[in-house]
Amino acid sequence: MRHFTAKFAVRRLANLAIDYVFPDGNVSCVLCHRPLFPPGALPRIHQQTDELAKHPGVCLFCEQELSSIHVAPVVRPMRVRVGNDVALVDVMSALRHEGIVRRAIRQWKYDGMLTATRWLSEWVVGGLRFSFDPLEVDAITWVPTSLHRLRMRGYDHAQLLALEVASSLDKPLYQWLTRGTAKNSHSEPTWSQTARNKSGRQTGANHEYRLVRNVELEGKHILLVDDIVTTGSTLQACTRALLEGGAKSVLAATVAFEV
Ligand SMILES: [Zn+2]
Repeated sequence: MRHFTAKFAVRRLANLAIDYVFPDGNVSCVLCHRPLFPPGALPRIHQQTDELAKHPGVCLFCEQELSSIHVAPVVRPMRVRVGNDVALVDVMSALRHEGIVRRAIRQWKYDGMLTATRWLSEWVVGGLRFSFDPLEVDAITWVPTSLHRLRMRGYDHAQLLALEVASSLDKPLYQWLTRGTAKNSHSEPTWSQTARNKSGRQTGANHEYRLVRNVELEGKHILLVDDIVTTGSTLQACTRALLEGGAKSVLAATVAFEV
């Protein structure tokens, strides 16, 4: 499974090379862009060592704010129409999409702050473990980013998140969903989800998600991972595709829910 586009991988390597050649270059906090203190500039107790910093690349102010976050998961039932039946599917969100959580998700999703993937996934896993005991999941999949966005950003943030969640829960990860218009699979979606208004999302998005070919979902309990849930229409469309494909149950999990 590829995690980055070739262009993004090259850009990443170039950045690593620059950091190697200029190790003392201007370094700023990945969240608030305050300058980070160089090593040794702070009393020993406050030094941003790897052991102390749970959130690498983050300044002491943001570190303090992030460390004070307590996962307060909410589980909301979502109605999903499958044929003539209506399935009730749980959607677990670890946090509210506000404050530093919102800033972190934005930097991670749009600005390549991939170091956040691990701690964002810890929130998701913490929320799942708190809400479901036992957690009945056979396999994990994610809500795929559109091809257009994947090319633009160089990575599918939800895939990276799902990869970490799968590794923490020790479950297999599969790419089971794909995005595109059902009528003409060669064309890309005309516009992105975020550019639409709420009503547009509810009516238009549902045809964009479908199963990849030749998948075997029969009898599986699936965990569907995404970053945030807003109206729920995206999760609904993905869940419908999975249930129609034979999944026994779907549980959705997101880092945050829109308030
Ligand atoms: Zn900061």
